[in-house]
Amino acid sequence: MATTLTWLGHAAFRLDTAGGTRVYVDPFLTGNPSCPDREREPERCDLVVVTHGHDDHVGDAVSIGQRFSCPVVAQVELRGWLSGRGLPEDMGQALNKGGTERFGDVRTTLTDANHSSSTDENGARVYLGESCGVVLRLDDGPTVYFAGDTNVFGDMALVKRLYAPDVAVLPIGDHFTMGPEEAAVAAELVGAPRVVPSHYGTFPILTGTPEALRPLLPEGVELLAHSPGETVSL
Ligand SMILES: [Zn+2]
Repeated sequence: MATTLTWLGHAAFRLDTAGGTRVYVDPFLTGNPSCPDREREPERCDLVVVTHGHDDHVGDAVSIGQRFSCPVVAQVELRGWLSGRGLPEDMGQALNKGGTERFGDVRTTLTDANHSSSTDENGARVYLGESCGVVLRLDDGPTVYFAGDTNVFGDMALVKRLYAPDVAVLPIGDHFTMGPEEAAVAAELVGAPRVVPSHYGTFPILTGTPEALRPLLPEGVELLAHSPGETVSL
């Protein structure tokens, strides 16, 4: 069985490993206008990773974690806040940047990202640490880098040097994250032969498109732009 990646709209993805492990990254399903109806209720899950505390990334992480008793990985401040929202406390799931933990056949590493991380609680803004990217290294499959919400930054070259990802999932929607112009430079720095665009098309304010990114990408980089609900083999 091949590793597959399904885009659930916005920055939400489901990754299924060759070994049968099902991972949700930033599972914004409820309230996500781009999420196909058939994807709103996960039927199983083995691991959830949340890159930062904004609602459009935390999404359904708590309910999925509760329902399937699966690990929910996030940076330590955000993971502590999620515990207060109903997940069991578990420091094994509370990583920080540069840290790696194995969950089944998936080695999970949090990386740097340039963004913010907060939520609104009872009318007050609560800060939830920093925003992260994540690298998933699969025992029997590719290494996938989810940049999370970010601009382009020079240390993406370290992601290439350390993890040499086969696939880079990059935000392209502009406004809250980088747009196509910066994403093309990110693709160059990360050096992955395949790029998956994310964080676009959800709301009118997110104007970046795969069509705008495609001609800017380094020679030979394949753009895997799929529609929400579509699954691609990695
Ligand atoms: Zn976002």
